[in-house]
Amino acid sequence: MTGWVSTAALADRDPQWKSNLKQALMQEPWSESLQIIVDKILDDKSLTKDDGLLLFSEPNLFELGRLANLHKEAMYGRKAYFNSNVHVNQTNICVLACRFCAFRRGPKADDAYALSVDDYLEELSRFSPYVNEVHSVGGLHPDWTVEHYAELFRRISAEYPHISIKALTAVEIKHLSQLSNLSIKETLLQLQSAGLTSLPGGGAEILDDGVRAIICNGKESSQEYLDIHRTAHEIGLPSNCTMLFGTIETTTQRIEHILKLRELASDTGGFQCFVPYPFLPDSTRLPMAQLSTGQEILRVIAVSRILLDTIPHIKAYRMNIGDELAELALQFGADDIDGTVQQESIMHLAGSTTPLTHDLQQLSKLINDAGCVPVKRDTTYTEFEEYVPPKPAKRLPMA
Ligand code: SF4
Repeated sequence: MTGWVSTAALADRDPQWKSNLKQALMQEPWSESLQIIVDKILDDKSLTKDDGLLLFSEPNLFELGRLANLHKEAMYGRKAYFNSNVHVNQTNICVLACRFCAFRRGPKADDAYALSVDDYLEELSRFSPYVNEVHSVGGLHPDWTVEHYAELFRRISAEYPHISIKALTAVEIKHLSQLSNLSIKETLLQLQSAGLTSLPGGGAEILDDGVRAIICNGKESSQEYLDIHRTAHEIGLPSNCTMLFGTIETTTQRIEHILKLRELASDTGGFQCFVPYPFLPDSTRLPMAQLSTGQEILRVIAVSRILLDTIPHIKAYRMNIGDELAELALQFGADDIDGTVQQESIMHLAGSTTPLTHDLQQLSKLINDAGCVPVKRDTTYTEFEEYVPPKPAKRLPMA
């Protein structure tokens, strides 16, 4: 394996990616509709909401994918990223009841659970030799304050110093700050000093308060989501950001969501990765959801790559969209497929059938088959190594 280090701002992106992109764009023929977008990129003009609408309505999905893939290749060449991680969901008990959520339980439900710090560490110990990141999100527990999480993060950091802690969505941070009677900034500072490395960015759903009132009433507002991430970035906590699509939102609302994230990223430089994923309907209470087809998922990923020039990475979240579509998405602008994961509840309770037992060799095969070079990364996209799978053992000749 060959390793290298990048800066947090570049996150391994080629500093010359814009000129690489322009050269590539000039060498290709484009349809009349996409030529409008290509011309704006060649003229260094920022793409607008109308441009986003044009991209979403582009009839030729494959040409749209080619445009997104040229962005990805200008930034990273043929590299595609993954990490060795495990998901530990600390509790499914939640004081809210978002209509799209198949994971949450009331405190009296038969299958409600809340891992004590010791139980959590025991769970993590099963995977600790193989992972360098733990991803933890969960319900809004009615009693756990910032003290509980600070102790948890301190214990993880002390016992497993090689494991980065990527944990807590914006609404969890808001809930902790209210329970603990602290400001958002003080809450984040205490968690950071206990060992929190980054925020996973979940819970953005659609950053439109009308949509939020219907699908996740009581959650943080659009502005609060953005403000919490801004505060995290200001104290040096990087984060990912997400978009849940295929519920009740319009195309315009998707574009506005993406552009709000682009603007915040432009101000702070703190978003590492954008993770768009479709709504999965099992066991949820959203019968009016429009749902997303495979082509629509690829379209959202491609449009996101083209619009989000201020966020380095676009993730094809295989836990949600499945391995087959994640592999295709690597040719539609995505450059990351998350990680080994090992165990996952939130998407699987909602209907995901993505296998959880992938090892590094299987992930690297998936990336290779997409025509890309597998690169193992750390949580914050600063340390990298090309992954070369071990050669298969030679067969002994038959006696
Ligand atoms: S999405 Fe999060 S906040 Fe909403 S009900 Fe589920 S666990 Fe609770």
